[in-house]
Amino acid sequence: MKITDIELYYLALPHITDAADGTQDTLLVHIGTDAGIEGFGECDASPLVSMAVYCCPPSHSNIVNIRETILGETVDTPEDIRRIQAKVWARGLDIEQIHHAYAGADIALWDIMGKKLGQPVYRLLGDQKAYPKRPYGSVLFGDTPQQTRERARSLAAAGFKAAKFGWGPMGKGTLEDDVALVAAAREGMGPDSEVMIDAGCVWGHDDQAALQRARRFAEYKITWLEEPFHPHAIEAYGRLAKHSPVRLAGGEGSNTVRFAEDLLMHGGVSFIQIDAGRIGGITPAYDVRRLAEKHGAVYVNHTFKSKLSLAAALHGFAGVERFGYLEYPQSGSPLAENLCEPCLQPGSDGLVRLTGAPGLGVTIDMDTVKRFRRPVRIEVGGEALLEG
Ligand SMILES: [Mg+2]
Repeated sequence: MKITDIELYYLALPHITDAADGTQDTLLVHIGTDAGIEGFGECDASPLVSMAVYCCPPSHSNIVNIRETILGETVDTPEDIRRIQAKVWARGLDIEQIHHAYAGADIALWDIMGKKLGQPVYRLLGDQKAYPKRPYGSVLFGDTPQQTRERARSLAAAGFKAAKFGWGPMGKGTLEDDVALVAAAREGMGPDSEVMIDAGCVWGHDDQAALQRARRFAEYKITWLEEPFHPHAIEAYGRLAKHSPVRLAGGEGSNTVRFAEDLLMHGGVSFIQIDAGRIGGITPAYDVRRLAEKHGAVYVNHTFKSKLSLAAALHGFAGVERFGYLEYPQSGSPLAENLCEPCLQPGSDGLVRLTGAPGLGVTIDMDTVKRFRRPVRIEVGGEALLEG
């Protein structure tokens, strides 16, 4: 089976705001083969920058675009997916966003491989069983404690037993302002649910500011404090982890497996959160999952895109029972909510399961693609490098 076709879809809502909401646009990658089997993947990155990585003119041996590298490649076994990925990394060595951009293609190739072999992706990764996961509703803080409380109440009313609140005003006012947001989230969710707090990198490298908050937030029995620092502030993570009364989570900023490994080894995180759409697809996300198993951390997906991304993320760690959490984006964006079927809704027990169908187990809704597609043309000297 050979890769014969790569198509890129830039999808976006009519109006993009500066809210920290990744469901406003996306890059959907379609790969076709000479066997007639096709697959889709999604990238969590700037769509247009990523599109350029698929078509930019080669500069030298280490700057060759993804399309040129993978068109015509043979893909018959899971090992081929790893081989192709290594080739893309080598030929894109000096392209900064190569991992983000390639994520969609890697996910599409796993989708294709599963369909060819009649197996769900988690089985191709070596897992015998896919365990159900507990979804935590993932939302932004409201602009005020009152708004946050209302969001929490609506998540609780929707049946979520766990929810994460992040970004927004957190860290931008006083210590007491931050505590009020956490108190509102806890109040809205009730005393028996799990509450996670995502600081959205707001304290930079300042572990003392984060420690002050962690000590106060602990009163509200939060499950974790996520991304208190810049993704690369590994030393600050390590210092905070030594004293924090709440466990730390982080890792969604990992562009590479080694980046995540550094956080596990030196950052003291108890939860390593990986975005398959950013780190380069299911293949490297799975590699981090193996590292989490080795280091005794809990692997959690980071997903703030469509349910296609959610399915891709879930296949990578569904096989480990103790990795029980699933980030479940709740933005309500019509693009993210309708991009594929089924929508991986929680079952009557509140848990989310993979469908067991071959590949990723979801189907793209082309009406949604048509509705939100924005045509793109990239040209050099009048010649189109990409059009569609
Ligand atoms: Mg986060």
